[in-house]
Amino acid sequence: MSDLRIELVPCLRDNYAYLVRDEKADLCAVVDPSEPGPVQKALKSRGWRLTHILNTHHHFDHTGGNVPLKEEFGAQVVGPAKDRQRIPAIDTGVDEETNWRFGGRAVRVLEIPAHTRAHIAFIVDGAAFTGDTLFAMGCGRLFEGTPQMMWTSLSKLATLADETRVYCGHEYTLNNGRFALTIEPDNDALKRRMRDVERTRAENAPTIPSTIGLEKHTNPFLRPASAEIRRSLGLENASDVDVFAEMRRRKDSF
Ligand SMILES: [Zn+2]
Ligand SMILES: [Zn+2]
Repeated sequence: MSDLRIELVPCLRDNYAYLVRDEKADLCAVVDPSEPGPVQKALKSRGWRLTHILNTHHHFDHTGGNVPLKEEFGAQVVGPAKDRQRIPAIDTGVDEETNWRFGGRAVRVLEIPAHTRAHIAFIVDGAAFTGDTLFAMGCGRLFEGTPQMMWTSLSKLATLADETRVYCGHEYTLNNGRFALTIEPDNDALKRRMRDVERTRAENAPTIPSTIGLEKHTNPFLRPASAEIRRSLGLENASDVDVFAEMRRRKDSF
């Protein structure tokens, strides 16, 4: 059993930063701090001291807290090795070859480019921090990569164990689910999940974390093999990546 505690910290309009707390080792990391204020407040209310800052990618809504939080706490900034120049105040670059550890734990890094060219995910103790690559029922926009790159990155995440908890960068779930229903309206797992999500969002509560297993059943971007999706798109005989590309194109203007 994991004794890491993970706390959501809502930031900006719809971002989530996450506090990852190892009580025994007296360590606390923040994943993707958009801004310092909410993170400082969350730390203070729990009496925790920040020791690490982890970034999945360079976008300002994921790194805006790096410099002020590092200045305040002397925290170590860890981010994608292949994007050192764009990660503010980075100390440690990591990639799939790095054996980076958080206290006594091995942290697995997956390179999942396409939203940005050096986007990474951190996997620790059954939790995956997927940034802006895999969202609940969605995926990130292709700012610096091709559909093939994103499809490869998502496929890599889909190899994680079904029970892996997914902590993503934004609360986009309701809109993502609405899009998913336009192309897979008869998916019962998707319909069930949307009822839950609508209830959760009506109470203004977070829909995070999800799990890899739930995403595989309800996230259209992991489901280009679905016969219903292919029929909806008129792409019965296309390759998975071509089906993926058409979904991503439609979502861009949804
Ligand atoms: Zn981003
Ligand atoms: Zn973002």
